[in-house]
Amino acid sequence: MTLSLTSTAKTYPDGTRALMPTDLDIPQGEIVSLLGPSGCGKSTLLRIIAGLEKPDEGARLLFDNEDFTHLPVEQRKIGMVFQSYALFPNMSVRGNIGYGLKMQKLAKSEINTRVDEVIALCQLEPYATRPINALSGGQRQRVALARAFAPRPRLLLLDEPLSALDAALRGQLRDELAQLLRSFGITAIFVTHDQDEAMAIADRVAVMSHGKIAQIGTPEALYRAPESEFVARFIGAAMPLGRHIETDTLHFETGSLTLPAPATDKLAFVRAEDVRLDDNSPLRAKVISVTFMGTHYRIALQGLAPEPVFALHAALNAPKVGDTVGVSIDPAAILMLPNEKKAA
Ligand code: ADP
Repeated sequence: MTLSLTSTAKTYPDGTRALMPTDLDIPQGEIVSLLGPSGCGKSTLLRIIAGLEKPDEGARLLFDNEDFTHLPVEQRKIGMVFQSYALFPNMSVRGNIGYGLKMQKLAKSEINTRVDEVIALCQLEPYATRPINALSGGQRQRVALARAFAPRPRLLLLDEPLSALDAALRGQLRDELAQLLRSFGITAIFVTHDQDEAMAIADRVAVMSHGKIAQIGTPEALYRAPESEFVARFIGAAMPLGRHIETDTLHFETGSLTLPAPATDKLAFVRAEDVRLDDNSPLRAKVISVTFMGTHYRIALQGLAPEPVFALHAALNAPKVGDTVGVSIDPAAILMLPNEKKAA
């Protein structure tokens, strides 16, 4: 395993337990995203790996079996890309990329070779002599990546690199970033609170909650087989369904659904894309809101659970608020998850 963390935890001096003892293994070339709501410990974990934060006693951090737990930041050979990019605005693209190499006192010819190499890799040739403040957001991102990559780090850490950009640009740069990281072939850890971003960029996503990795897996595995209510709600906004379950039957006021398997101590969840409006279904619900989203209508329904249940309705027209509609849900699409309140 290229990067291997064991029992890595962090308690801040004020007593805040930002990170519970965490194990994480990442093979060479894998891109892992740390995903979770604000305050769940993502940056703390990233900063410990970078060497900017000291873990609690008992942590062990290995890179290719070499222990780097106590190695100072500058000896870790780790590249970092921050939210702000922290580029020198008046300096040229070349100057920014070469800056760290100059600090390392590399020979001028070596610096030039490496700068040329990453400029080509990041397709920055036309802008090489331009100052940073004459570049677009996307071009700046590429310079920040090129600069982090130029010293040939063995690991790249990215802390919310897209969060300072506006929504339209974020979507576009997300795919570009995913492609660039793959073309580098580098092992990378990417922190974000944005589910779409994590899923678009990472090979595996570690979903974090309250200082712990709640679940780690490929985007598909997390989406299709979440192990907890937290992960199901965070990835793809799963909604609780039904008022009560009796062995293998989910009961509603107007009907019932047979579950794929008997469920003891479990709760049923469903995603909006699996809730269909269906005139022929005996299961009824009341429309409480209708929002036109362009590709579909998002319809809030009352009567399927204590909370409103949303349906995505791809059609040219939608029912009206107050209408009673038939609803069908494929039992195979229902997620059965541990009842955390009962377990706690
Ligand atoms: P995230 O990156 O997921 O938003 P952080 O790792 O920044 O979360 O923070 C995790 C928890 O640790 C939060 O409760 C935060 O307030 C706390 N925290 C972060 N830095 C410090 C610090 N220097 N001192 C005390 N508490 C901190």
